[in-house]
Amino acid sequence: MVETTERISGWGLFPAAENSVLRGTGIPEQLSDYSDIVARGLGRSYGDQAMNSRGYVVPCTDKNRFLAFDERSGELECEAGVSLFEIIEVFGPRGFFPMITPGTKFVTVGGAIANDVHGKAHHVDGSFKNCVESFEIMVGSGKVLQASRKKHSDLFHASFGGLGLLGFILRVRLKLRKVETTYFRQQSFRARNLDEMLDLIDEKDAEFPYSVAWVNPLARGKTLGKGVLTAGNHAGKEELPKKLAAEPLKITGLPALNVPVFLPGFALNALTLRMLNRIIDFIQSHAGEFAHYDKFFYPLDAINNWNRGYGKRGFTQYQFVVPVEGARKTIRKILEEISDGGCHPFLNVLKKFGKGTNYLSFPMPGYTFAIDFPITRKLFPFLKKLDALVLDAGGRIYAGKDATLDAQSFAAMYPELEDWKRIKKKYDPLNRFQSDIGRRLGLV
Ligand SMILES: Cc1cc2nc3c(=O)[nH]c(=O)nc-3n(C[C@H](O)[C@H](O)[C@H](O)COP(=O)(O)OP(=O)(O)OC[C@H]3O[C@@H](n4cnc5c(N)ncnc54)[C@H](O)[C@@H]3O)c2cc1C
Repeated sequence: MVETTERISGWGLFPAAENSVLRGTGIPEQLSDYSDIVARGLGRSYGDQAMNSRGYVVPCTDKNRFLAFDERSGELECEAGVSLFEIIEVFGPRGFFPMITPGTKFVTVGGAIANDVHGKAHHVDGSFKNCVESFEIMVGSGKVLQASRKKHSDLFHASFGGLGLLGFILRVRLKLRKVETTYFRQQSFRARNLDEMLDLIDEKDAEFPYSVAWVNPLARGKTLGKGVLTAGNHAGKEELPKKLAAEPLKITGLPALNVPVFLPGFALNALTLRMLNRIIDFIQSHAGEFAHYDKFFYPLDAINNWNRGYGKRGFTQYQFVVPVEGARKTIRKILEEISDGGCHPFLNVLKKFGKGTNYLSFPMPGYTFAIDFPITRKLFPFLKKLDALVLDAGGRIYAGKDATLDAQSFAAMYPELEDWKRIKKKYDPLNRFQSDIGRRLGLV
């Protein structure tokens, strides 16, 4: 085990801080040697989720072996450091795909559990918990426990959205989806304003398992909320055009494009914002009928280190969900605040969630909006204002992307927090598992 001091951050590059990183053996065998520790996956959470500037951080990506696979049921057993990219690379050509995937494939299975990630099909498939059968977890005492819906079920459920604060997840049994092709059949639909957009989402979600909308952040007044909804489903082998049918289970490797350096802060201004959104508008509304999974699920993965495009100060992704009832009013108010607030929103993504789960898992029935903001001094008081609007509407913020929320607001947004804390106390009485977000949001 080698201890190094490294400056680390989440994907948003904010906050960044010196951390003691334990490299070498993956999970410390002698857990009792360490009193303040947290696991780190591929660092794709946006803020301080996998940071622990007062204690230790343990990268888990070297624990990435596949252990067993049942071709008939699609059940895979693997170490928690395996990434969705690795799963697709190995099982894609055999006709299997992750059942639930976020908008990047560069996440580990352990990280996906810790944030209970959701994807474009949440209204049909729910969150990551729904594809996990069980896992092995090292808890505060150093003991390794099996957790499933039947065994240690409190630990099992509380780990989804538990931000790695209940223990090190070591091995996971999860279900993959059998697919005929790695392509999707998709359609895009244009909405002229927010009402049209929300109607469109309601209508198309009944028809398509996958859907997500891009909302133009520059629209105001009557066109506020305008954008393009893209919806689709897995393409069958027979449906594919000849050119694609030659390799129906095609997979792609690592991206060739890269942002080699941090772009200067001044590159982010109203002009680049306008240009970027014109390009997105064009791409979204001219999408072809068939899309490879990389385009359909992971357009941002096409460029390595694209986060550097926001400059050294970084950015945050503000993602909230508000209940369906009253959502139109709240979303309109938030969009108006954003267009008047002077903080440039670079990307707006809207989606409707289906049923949620429990404890600290983020998704709940309602509309979720994700907005990228470059970090500026103005942003912090501005986000406080938005937090209050979200809370007022009975909504909540996604901890997996958050970098600024306070403990009081988090407690008000997550009514099962006290129950979750009781489970934390039961499995980690000495509070060994800690992190920067854990302290900031009052979880540890
Ligand atoms: C481009 C992009 C698109 C995204 N799209 C979505 C989306 O559509 N939906 C969505 O839900 N999220 C999305 N995310 C967020 C991302 O899916 C989550 O933050 C995910 O949890 C990151 O996984 P990771 O392996 O990088 O974990 P990290 O970010 O390194 O860590 C995340 C959490 O997992 C814990 N953890 C990691 N490994 C273990 C382990 N072995 N045991 C216990 N705890 C562990 C860490 O302690 C930390 O709390 C996106 C992120 C990016 C960059």
